[in-house]
Amino acid sequence: MKSPTGQTKNSQLFSIFDPMEKPFYKGLKIGVLGGGQLGRMLLQKSYSYNVEMAFIDPDTHAPCREISNWFYRGDLNNFKLVHDFGKKCDVVTIEIENVCVEALEQLEKEGIKVFPQPRAIKVVQDKGLQKLFYKNNGFPTSDFYLIEGKQDLELFKNQLPLVQKLRKGGYDGKGVQVLRSAADIENAFDGPCILEQLVPIHKEISVIACRGQNGDVKAYPPVEMEFNAEANLVEFLFSPAKISKTLEIQAMELAKKIIVQLDMVGILAVEMFITKEGELLVNEIAPRPHNSGHQTIEGNETSQYDQLLRCLMGMPLGNTDITIPSVMVNLLGEKDYVGAVKYQGIEQAMATDGVNVHIYGKTETKPFRKMGHVTVVDKSLEKAIVKAKIIKDTLKVIA
Ligand code: ADP
Repeated sequence: MKSPTGQTKNSQLFSIFDPMEKPFYKGLKIGVLGGGQLGRMLLQKSYSYNVEMAFIDPDTHAPCREISNWFYRGDLNNFKLVHDFGKKCDVVTIEIENVCVEALEQLEKEGIKVFPQPRAIKVVQDKGLQKLFYKNNGFPTSDFYLIEGKQDLELFKNQLPLVQKLRKGGYDGKGVQVLRSAADIENAFDGPCILEQLVPIHKEISVIACRGQNGDVKAYPPVEMEFNAEANLVEFLFSPAKISKTLEIQAMELAKKIIVQLDMVGILAVEMFITKEGELLVNEIAPRPHNSGHQTIEGNETSQYDQLLRCLMGMPLGNTDITIPSVMVNLLGEKDYVGAVKYQGIEQAMATDGVNVHIYGKTETKPFRKMGHVTVVDKSLEKAIVKAKIIKDTLKVIA
């Protein structure tokens, strides 16, 4: 039960570790809201710099738990816990958007640096505000309507098909559905939603933009995403995207304009559609490390994790160029398996040149859970694609 300030009764902030045993001894103290795989890869890179990282996550089995010196268990939407956690840090960042923004605003007032800034997180948390932000600033996006609930759908019966998206709380395709005919209205989401025009998609691409504390802005070359139709999750990611140079430049410029307009420090994944007519439309943004940037670890001069750390430390941005083509494959839990995880075929994968395996350390698998990823690098993108498809068929996450 939540009080008006968003505090959960009986909750408390406690560290898994005894502070006397492992004190904050290094330079900058970076606090991360969320302790999942994105935080874990950020932590791995942080060992290159003289910084200390602390994480807060509701799950005591979160991927950062085992490998971090400082891990707190707590509800990320609890004002007091997020505030108490942030007070222990010099800089606070996020690896998930669904957090208590009010606590971050309070921390900012008290002089703690919060990157991305709470005002940007607020826009991103609500898909309705995101769409209004694109529209009001002239960024191309599909046409849309905002509705309060299912009862409003009657008015749109004659305009179907439309894509219905819950304004808040959706992720990885959950909270998104296509309403094709009046019969679908019965199973529509109820609550504040956006209704979007169904875009005839040619390709889905993503560009990660970054902005340092000194205002410098860069963008990574676009990557192309191929989705698993059943799970609505990215299955393959190709870097670079197989698109024209003109579209590539256009997409990078657009992503840079968006991060500047948001006036945020940090990294911002900008997911876009290329329509069948070759038009670029912004779909959604995420102001944190993103699934579409995993391949930057092996495939680019500076990884997205390194880039975010540079932003948090107030250091110069790194070069975003691609050093070698790559294909990223998400390792998703197989459909019929639940329980203690096993990775079938991992030896064969690791025996292949150019294959880089990342296991997130989650002990339990379930259907379509993101358990790890593989990045295949090769001087030829086509060869990397062939290897990645073999990995997809042979490396299985089972129980
Ligand atoms: P999530 O935030 O859950 O990832 P998205 O808004 O990215 O949700 O939508 C998930 C997927 O649904 C997209 O990657 C795309 O394939 C499809 N989709 C979303 N919006 C549209 C649209 N307006 N037209 C066509 N397909 C869409």
